[in-house]
Amino acid sequence: MTDPADRDLGLDRDIPRRDLLNGVLWSAAAAASPLDRLLGAAGPEPYPPALTGLRGSTDGSFEAAHKLRDQTMPPEWATPRDTGEKYDLVVVGAGISGLAAAHFFRKRSGPRARVLIVDNHDDFGGHARRNEFTVDGRKLIGYGGTQSIDTPGSYSPVAKALLAELGIDTAKFNQAYDQRFAERFHLGSGFFFDRETFGVDRLVSRAEGEAWPAVIARMPFEPDVRTDLVRLFASTTDYLAAMSAAGRKRALLRMSYLVYLRDHVKLSPRAIPFFQSWTHDLYGVGIDAINALDCKALGFPGFDGLGLDPAPIPGQGASASRIEEEPYIFHFPDGNASVARLLVRRLVPGSIPGSTMEDVVTAPCHYGLLDRAANGTRIRLASTAIRVREDRGGITIAYVRGGKAESVRASRVVLACWHGVIPHLCPELPGEQRTALRYGVKVPLLYTNVALRNWKAVAAAKVADVKAPGSYWTSAMIDFPVSLGSYRFSTGPDQPVLLFMERTPCKPGLPEKEQHRIGRNELLATPFSTYERQIRSQLTRMFGPFGFDAVRDVAGITVNRWSHGYAYEYNALEDPIFPPGKAPHEIARQPFGRIAIANADAAAFAYTDAAIDQADRAVRELTRPPAQRG
Ligand SMILES: Cc1cc2nc3c(=O)[nH]c(=O)nc-3n(C[C@H](O)[C@H](O)[C@H](O)COP(=O)(O)OP(=O)(O)OC[C@H]3O[C@@H](n4cnc5c(N)ncnc54)[C@H](O)[C@@H]3O)c2cc1C
Repeated sequence: MTDPADRDLGLDRDIPRRDLLNGVLWSAAAAASPLDRLLGAAGPEPYPPALTGLRGSTDGSFEAAHKLRDQTMPPEWATPRDTGEKYDLVVVGAGISGLAAAHFFRKRSGPRARVLIVDNHDDFGGHARRNEFTVDGRKLIGYGGTQSIDTPGSYSPVAKALLAELGIDTAKFNQAYDQRFAERFHLGSGFFFDRETFGVDRLVSRAEGEAWPAVIARMPFEPDVRTDLVRLFASTTDYLAAMSAAGRKRALLRMSYLVYLRDHVKLSPRAIPFFQSWTHDLYGVGIDAINALDCKALGFPGFDGLGLDPAPIPGQGASASRIEEEPYIFHFPDGNASVARLLVRRLVPGSIPGSTMEDVVTAPCHYGLLDRAANGTRIRLASTAIRVREDRGGITIAYVRGGKAESVRASRVVLACWHGVIPHLCPELPGEQRTALRYGVKVPLLYTNVALRNWKAVAAAKVADVKAPGSYWTSAMIDFPVSLGSYRFSTGPDQPVLLFMERTPCKPGLPEKEQHRIGRNELLATPFSTYERQIRSQLTRMFGPFGFDAVRDVAGITVNRWSHGYAYEYNALEDPIFPPGKAPHEIARQPFGRIAIANADAAAFAYTDAAIDQADRAVRELTRPPAQRG
């Protein structure tokens, strides 16, 4: 089978994918720059969630920061224009942490407090990003980043209280999330075997609860490899019999799942590629870089005979501790963008009409209201902070907007941006803190929404989600079946739906951080046309045999590029176990003067509650009486 030609894939078709705003092509609008139009300086009110094509960290959002990093800023940025604006608090970063910090600060300082939030992106929410499509007259709402409220039962009292204050009652997802969706449409899980890796293109589905031997019998492996896989999935063998009970968990923590499968299970090398990407969605790297103990916590096969006690041990990945505590159903149609929107609704009254967690789903956002002088809180988008300095009894914050540097003054600052940026904003920080801020490397990844006119082919394939371990996109799945407020999920295969696809551009075999650095460069160098071709080609190869036609069925595409994605979490294979208080993220997040540090990086934990908790800590540091400050 050869790759389908571009025409057969529909690459020449006019679908919403390239710089469309509310269905109006940028090029069709007047002479103002796209940025001006987006910010409402010209033309109709902007609405970034409806932009399609390449989103996430878009072109235009990171260039100023990279010039700062590379010390190639134009000389005029050294003398920014003073706007004359003064604030009680400036927050750098409009992600959930920055928005929560503004909220906590106003609660502590009173409603007269004046706050400015700046963010380099054209939309607020940071990773909590909303994607919208209109297909055949129907609105489809998807998530472009932060997916779900993960195990809310384990949230801190502060994070739980914030959700409650925003009107989020997680119990409502028990009804909103259609938990019988897969059963009703007879959808199981699928595995796509690509010919480059496995010799043939084949989609193999596994019905819920179907025994592994029957599934493995349909996989394109030689008989001896199938036998080996059956042994792995069924096994009660103790593959670490030579080790003491106490030493096993420590050994699994220090060996990758790849090493475990290869050297201890002695699984056929031809079977190992089947598992390679199983850790991508959670960690952004494959099984070569993730310890076997975390993989056991994730439910991967091969551990049943080891008799391990299930309690996590020191050094075990933080993400693994969350597995299976609660169902994964706490999902707004736009993911945690709804959390960000509920915060914005509070911070800028009138910007997002309504009052409940239900009505926020379909409520519009009036972006033109976010940065008005009359607001108690102003949100200034497409503005990249380039300098934060204490001087003259206050703090000067310089940022670049539309290619020009401006400055404002503040009494306090929360840096709710990424750790790696902070040494460039504040070069006078102590050397140890700057080193600690640079320790982690954020995880690069692509979150893609493909709007389909119908999902008949997916239903015919009998899969709700597909792992594609050898393919460009290593997973694909039908959107979460959530109907909330007046928003209704697709009622059947003949209705439009979003198909979510994910890629993490890792480089197996290298240390994790190196994989992330190389992957980030790949993301920044890849044009949207490549992503689109890979999407259409892979969907055709996976679902073509079940009736999928990329030309007919694809109605829109948004690729969310997160070159600086998940916060770095310590990797038991590479990082030491740090003594309490001495971990890099703890050294990095120390306040200095009247500047405090929030963001999920400050917790070394890539979750929404971490972003909230760090905002709370940062605001407490800034608002406690001077005598109690360190
Ligand atoms: C693809 C993806 C999926 C995820 N899924 C989940 C999930 O399902 N559940 C979950 O709990 N967590 C998830 N996360 C983790 C997510 O990062 C956190 O939950 C949380 O949203 C992080 O919020 P934050 O405010 O700390 O950081 P961010 O959301 O990264 O916000 C920081 C903001 O600061 C901005 N900034 C950086 N430098 C500057 C500068 N110099 N000037 C101005 N602004 C700047 C950034 O551009 C960004 O907008 C996911 C993350 C990603 C990337």
